[in-house]
Amino acid sequence: MNFKSIDIQVLDDSSTIVVKNGILVKNEQFCAIYDIDKGHFKFVCTTCFELNIMLATQDLRMKDPEEEERLCSECGITMQEGFYFESDGTQYCSEKCLTKVITWDEYLAIHDNGNGDAYWTDWYDY
Ligand SMILES: [Zn+2]
Repeated sequence: MNFKSIDIQVLDDSSTIVVKNGILVKNEQFCAIYDIDKGHFKFVCTTCFELNIMLATQDLRMKDPEEEERLCSECGITMQEGFYFESDGTQYCSEKCLTKVITWDEYLAIHDNGNGDAYWTDWYDY
């Protein structure tokens, strides 16, 4: 049989990851999502059309893990711009979230006038 497989993630309507490392497997008779971490097929349908309906009725959606979604490390909101810490990859949507983790003075010390590992940035597609 000829399978086509695509890396995907499954998220619920509040963007919580339901399947973190999934593979969408499909051929002419089969369309399913395999959960690598759990080692089993999480969703199995005969067509991708049916699979999309099944996900929609459970308020789930598929996402390409390559398309990077930026979430605030503190409150989890989707963010297009914010404070980014290169050292550990954490990011914060606002000063309010940032200062829950470190003080503003600590941030300024890490920021080091733009020469440091932390800075305000954005991830808009230009
Ligand atoms: Zn936040």
